[in-house]
Amino acid sequence: AELIRPLHELLRDQSARFGDKTAFRDADRAVGYAELEARTRRLAGHLAQARLRPGDRMAMLLGNRVEMVESYFAVVRAGGVGVPVNPQVSVAELEHILTDSGATAIVTDRAWLARLPALHHRMTVLVVGDGPTPPGCLSYERFATTEPAVQAPDDQGLDDIAWMLYTSGTTGRPKGVLTTQRSCLWSVAASYVPALGLTDADRVLWPLPLFHSLAHIACVLAVTSVGATARITDGLSAADVLDVWREEESTVVAGVPTLYHYLARAAGAPGFTAPPVRVGLVGGAVATAALRRSFEDAFGAPLVDAYGSTETAGSIAINWPTGARPEGSCGLPVPGLAVRLVDHASGQDVADGAEGEVWVRGPNVMVGYHNQPAATAEALAGGWYHTGDLARRDRAGHLTVTGRIKELIIRAGENIHPGEVEEVVRRAPGVADVAVAGKPHDVFGEVPVAYVVPGPNGFDPAQVLSLCRERLSYFKVPEELYEIQQVPRTASGKVTRRRLLDGPARLRAVGNVYH
Ligand code: ATP
Repeated sequence: AELIRPLHELLRDQSARFGDKTAFRDADRAVGYAELEARTRRLAGHLAQARLRPGDRMAMLLGNRVEMVESYFAVVRAGGVGVPVNPQVSVAELEHILTDSGATAIVTDRAWLARLPALHHRMTVLVVGDGPTPPGCLSYERFATTEPAVQAPDDQGLDDIAWMLYTSGTTGRPKGVLTTQRSCLWSVAASYVPALGLTDADRVLWPLPLFHSLAHIACVLAVTSVGATARITDGLSAADVLDVWREEESTVVAGVPTLYHYLARAAGAPGFTAPPVRVGLVGGAVATAALRRSFEDAFGAPLVDAYGSTETAGSIAINWPTGARPEGSCGLPVPGLAVRLVDHASGQDVADGAEGEVWVRGPNVMVGYHNQPAATAEALAGGWYHTGDLARRDRAGHLTVTGRIKELIIRAGENIHPGEVEEVVRRAPGVADVAVAGKPHDVFGEVPVAYVVPGPNGFDPAQVLSLCRERLSYFKVPEELYEIQQVPRTASGKVTRRRLLDGPARLRAVGNVYH
C-alpha cells in the first residue's frame, strides 16, 4: 500500500531519498531522482501555462529515451492525460491516433516533426533534442530547465484518468485504454515489485518500447517506486542487448519472447560467457516452456513470465521465480485479483484443466476504451474484463494461456490454436522461426497454414509435415507450407497473423492429405 501514492508525492519522496542517484539512462543522457522530480515539476508548470487543461490529452511520440519517461510523469503533474504512441507507426496510423485521442499537445522529436510538418498548426508541440526550435513549436528542454511562471498543479487524484494507452492492435484497430494512477501503481505493488524482488539495488536493462503498457508499469513506474536504476535502449538485436547488459552490469533484464529466442541462440555460440543476472522478465506474448528452459540454462537465473494486457495495467498472472509451476504456465493470478475461466457457449466457469476465456476483476482493470461505449460495454460486461484470451487452470491455480479467441482457427468446427502448431513446427530441423495463420477454405471454412523462416541451411518441407502428422491431430496439420523471410511481429512480440496472409511467401508444400 505504501507504493500507492500520487506520483508527485512519490517523486518528491524519491528525490529526498535518492538525490543524484541515476533513475533512468539512455545512450545519451541520464536523469537522477532529484532532477526527475524537478524537471517533471517544471514541465508540468509550463504545460499548465501553455493551457493544457485537466483531462486534456498529450501525445508522447518518442523512442526509448529519458524524455519519454519524464513525459509520463510531467503530463500527470499537469493534470492531463498522457497518450504514449508507438514511434514506429505509419503517418496514417499516427493521424488516426491523434484524431481518435483528440490530443491537443504532443511531445516529439525532430525526425517526426519533419514527417508531419503541419502538426504545429493544430497542437501545442514540444520538441525534444538539441538545436534550434522549429517555428511554431516549443522547446522541451527549455520547459524542463527553466522555472515556469505557473506552479505545477500536482492535483490529479489517484482515481482520475492519467494515461490512455493504445492496445497493440494485434486483433484489430488499436483502442485507447483509459487508466488511472491507482490501477497502474497497484500492478506495480501487487505483481512486478514482489515477483521480481525489485529493490533500489537493482540495475534494470529495458530494451522494450516505452510506449507499451508493460514498459509503463514494469519499467517507468516500478523502477521509480523502488528507487532502482534503469538503462533504457531501443532495438532488439541480441548482440546490442548483451553489450549494454555487460556494460551496465544489469541485475534484471526484460524482453518479449522474440528477444529471448535471440539471446538463447547467441548463448549457444562457441566461447559464449553469460553475463551475470539476477532475474529475467518476459511478457507480451506466450513464452514456451522450452524458451524458459533455454534462458535458465544459459544464464543461470529464473525467467519470470508476466501475463497481462493494456486493459489490466499490465498484470493478470505472474510467475514467482521460486515455487513449482507446470511447464508453459504463466503462474498464479496476482493476489487481489479475481480471475475466472468461462466457457463461451454456456457462460459457466469451466472445470480445472478445461479451457475457458479469462475474465478478470480487480483494481487494475481499465476505466474503459476512449470514445467506444459499445466496445467498453462488451469488454466490461457484468463487471468483469473479458480478455479474449483462452487458458487452462490446474488445481493449484496456475494459469496456462493457450491462445486468443480471435486467433482460433476453426476448421470444420474443430478448434486449432496457432501456437500449438507453431510449437511442433519449430522443433523441425532447419526451422529458424514459424507462424501459423488460418486461411479461408471453401469446404472447411478455415484451414491452418504454416509460414516458415528457414535457418542458414534451409529446411525440408516434407520432414516438417511428417513431424506435424506424427505430433498433431490430422485437422491441425498445416494445409500449406510457405517459406518467408521474417515473421511479422508487433512491438510487444505478437505475431501479426493478418499480415502473414497478404505478405510475400513462397509455397513449398501442400500438407494435409486427409481430405
Ligand atoms: P489488440 O487488443 O488491439 O489486438 P493486444 O491485445 O495485442 O491488442 P496488448 O494489450 O499489448 O494488446 O496485449 C495483451 C495480450 O497479449 C493479452 O491479452 C494476451 O493475449 C497477450 N499476452 C501478454 N502477455 C502474455 C503472456 N505472458 N503469455 C501469454 N500471452 C500474453
